[in-house]
Parts: sequence; structure tokens; C-alpha cells
Amino acid sequence: MQKTKKKHVKICPICYSPDNYLESNPASAAASTIIGGNFSVYHCNNCGFSGSFFPEAPIDNLPEPKKLEDIKEESYTKVDVSY
Ligand SMILES: [Zn+2]
Repeated sequence: MQKTKKKHVKICPICYSPDNYLESNPASAAASTIIGGNFSVYHCNNCGFSGSFFPEAPIDNLPEPKKLEDIKEESYTKVDVSY
């Protein structure tokens, strides 16, 4: 009785890339032992974002990964750099 449970993958909340990995951080591991929460930290290989909140998406219905240029543009408009 073994079901392959690979229908969902973690995706980056910034660029929606499924290309990320679980960071093994001794500090966060210790914190989760003390507090009892889930302090897993994921790291995105695409845009370099790291955080504990990576949503899951069905592997056969993934959102389109954002382009890094678009992400940069968004943050630039937020900062509102005037020449
Ligand atoms: Zn990313």
C-alpha cells in the first residue's frame, strides 16, 4: 500500500518557480525544537528568495514562473527611483 505522493510541489512565492530546496539551517532547526513550530526554510534557486512560507501547487497545474526581470521591475516601481 504505497501511494506516490508527489502531486504537489513547493513553489517560490516571489517568482513561482518550483526550482527550490529545503535549507538545512541548524539555527532554525534548534528554534523549531524549542518552540515546536515548523521553521523550515526554503531557498529559491531562480530568484534567490528564501523564507519559511513556500506555498504548494499541484505539479500538473503549476503557475507560470515569473521572469526575474519582471520581479526586478516590480520592486523598482515600488521604490520609485526618480532620475
Ligand atoms: Zn523565486
